[in-house]
Amino acid sequence: MIDFAGLNPEQRIAVEKVDGPILVLAGAGSGKTRTLTYRIANILDQGRVSPHGVLAITFTRKAAWEMRRRLEELVGSPAKDITAVTFHSLGFKLLSAEGGVLGYKPDKLVVYDAVEAQRLLHRAMQETNVDGTRWTIEQVAPIIERAKDNLYGPEDFVQAKGDFFEESIAKVYRRYQQLLMENNAVDYGDLIRLSVQLLRQNPGTLEFYQNLFRYVLIDEFQDSSFGQYQLVRHLVWRNRNLCCVGSPVQAIYSWRGADIHNILERFRTDFPNALMVVLSQNYRSTATILAAAQAVVRDLPYREDLRTDNDQGSSVAVVPLNTDWDEANFIANEIKQLDEEGYCRVEDCAVLFRTRAQGRLLEQVFMHQGLPYTLVGDFKFFERREVKDILAYLRVVHDMLDAGALQRIINRPPRGLGPASLQKLQGSEPELNFSAITGLHNRTDLPPKVLAAAMEFADLIFDDLPRAVKEKTLPDFFDYVLERTGYLAWIQKDPDAKRRVANLRLLRAMTTRYDHSEEALGTFLADIAMLSVSRSISAVEGGDTSLDVPAEGRGVTLATIHAVKGLEFPVIFVAGLEEGIFPHAKAMKTAEGMEEETRLAYVAMTRAMSLLYLTYARSRVVGEEMKEHSPSRFLASIPKHLTRVVSATERGVMTHETIGATVLPLEFQTTVLALPMVEARS
Ligand code: ATP
Ligand code: MG
Repeated sequence: MIDFAGLNPEQRIAVEKVDGPILVLAGAGSGKTRTLTYRIANILDQGRVSPHGVLAITFTRKAAWEMRRRLEELVGSPAKDITAVTFHSLGFKLLSAEGGVLGYKPDKLVVYDAVEAQRLLHRAMQETNVDGTRWTIEQVAPIIERAKDNLYGPEDFVQAKGDFFEESIAKVYRRYQQLLMENNAVDYGDLIRLSVQLLRQNPGTLEFYQNLFRYVLIDEFQDSSFGQYQLVRHLVWRNRNLCCVGSPVQAIYSWRGADIHNILERFRTDFPNALMVVLSQNYRSTATILAAAQAVVRDLPYREDLRTDNDQGSSVAVVPLNTDWDEANFIANEIKQLDEEGYCRVEDCAVLFRTRAQGRLLEQVFMHQGLPYTLVGDFKFFERREVKDILAYLRVVHDMLDAGALQRIINRPPRGLGPASLQKLQGSEPELNFSAITGLHNRTDLPPKVLAAAMEFADLIFDDLPRAVKEKTLPDFFDYVLERTGYLAWIQKDPDAKRRVANLRLLRAMTTRYDHSEEALGTFLADIAMLSVSRSISAVEGGDTSLDVPAEGRGVTLATIHAVKGLEFPVIFVAGLEEGIFPHAKAMKTAEGMEEETRLAYVAMTRAMSLLYLTYARSRVVGEEMKEHSPSRFLASIPKHLTRVVSATERGVMTHETIGATVLPLEFQTTVLALPMVEARS
């Protein structure tokens, strides 16, 4: 029997009423995820269905694992057999089992990451003459992505016949799908769109999965896309045992196709008799942090007001700094100090920021200061340029026909085969391929310099390296590639050399557990492909498997706000609270954009349990330039009595005793805060 003592009365209702549709709505830290987990425990405990009959959908893989771990504490081993996955993994499961009816070879199905998908899309644009001059790939790609989120295929894409733009896109989209099919590949959008298509077109298959998944639960429902909701709607239509939990005020993924109407309307229209539960108590944060976060979203159309019984706690520390460099140093020092004082461990701290670029400087400073950290979010190790480059070399050695890899390395390091020379080499082919390189001897049309450079390259990759791979162990071969191609020497001149070399060292470390066999390279590459695909899947969902590193040894978490949805940390730093950074300049242009930024600020602040720091820099390097910014309007919307301004130069004031003790007098605030605060919600 499950012990319901850890639930409040509302949570308990949502846990106990197991059958039928139910929607749980509530703001941050109110125990939605906890309720969902208990609900599953209750379903299993009542023996209504075997664990295989429970499908729990979470936003990240990390969240799925976390849910299973918590469940195991509640019900023991049956927790292992429930299906706890992300929408994308669910799609992959369906397609890799049933995709045959759609014309795929299901057991060999490949998921293309964003980069591979773009390469194919580029080809599709060229082949349909929708070239990069009229419309760029950056314009076309999101249109197709959004079409997929909304379940539009190429055939139903053209809504207004005769619309040249739409017809062109439809042409590209059709060709793109053909190319994917030829590669037995799907992109992220297809994982959902094709799964829905599969269920719609095959009643037998639909019935099978409806009978299999008797109870379906979705966490973070506010950030599901139209397609994702339709997928689940099909699955539950027979049993109607669907439990969705979400928080409209935390909807932060509209830019990637999330559709708030699922939670606001569609669910209620589809399930008019659904039980509605509203949770109203926050258990995560101090009363001060909660009040500050709620103040930021007070003018939004949908809020979920919360109260808390937690202590008042420390005031929110607002920290003005001169530069982004100062900011990173302040944060690093502060964390060191909290750690030294025994207030918390470094693992308890997370630094959150709005844009990926901010993570690099933080990383640099943390590395410099010897403070352990994990960078999460979209910073995928396998997406790093140097890692991709060297893997491409290895791929070409393993498979000479790998055109994508060949294209990537032809001029890295630069060997006089830049874009213009490449064009000549390719001739009429859409991309550089094996025959372009092997047929060099017959090419009379090439300028001598290009020919010579290409010949040398051909010798390297078709002769020299393949010979070496046969003779050496994998790590030795790895070193040989770095050396012989000139890549290491080249990367050492990069301004970011230290980090790039460190990444390559990490990649090399991964080769060391392979034996010295002819197949070692192939096995290594296959393993890496699996790893990077699963990582990309999790990254596209806003998380990253690096959070799977156990807390001990993870160090400080550095992450974009989007990546830490649903998580909590005792100490949170939100960095870069500046107009133009957060709220982000692009988003500030529209009312919807501004609302989403505001929700994002709420999400960031509500990750904090005990201490919250909000930092900003007067000037910051953006792109190549140093730019001045004024403090974010979000700071101005927090009532003054909840905050205190901390001067970085008087850092001594921030010991943990003082954090909890006093709110600094007003004079102190005005002297330290040299910059005028912008008006709230100007
Ligand atoms: P978010 O909106 O950020 O996803 P959430 O609503 O899912 O948050 P949880 O993560 O489930 O909230 O819970 C927040 C914290 O509050 C967790 O540490 C959880 O263990 C705790 N908590 C939730 N409900 C209770 C309760 N009834 N009693 C004690 N602690 C609780
Ligand atoms: Mg949650």
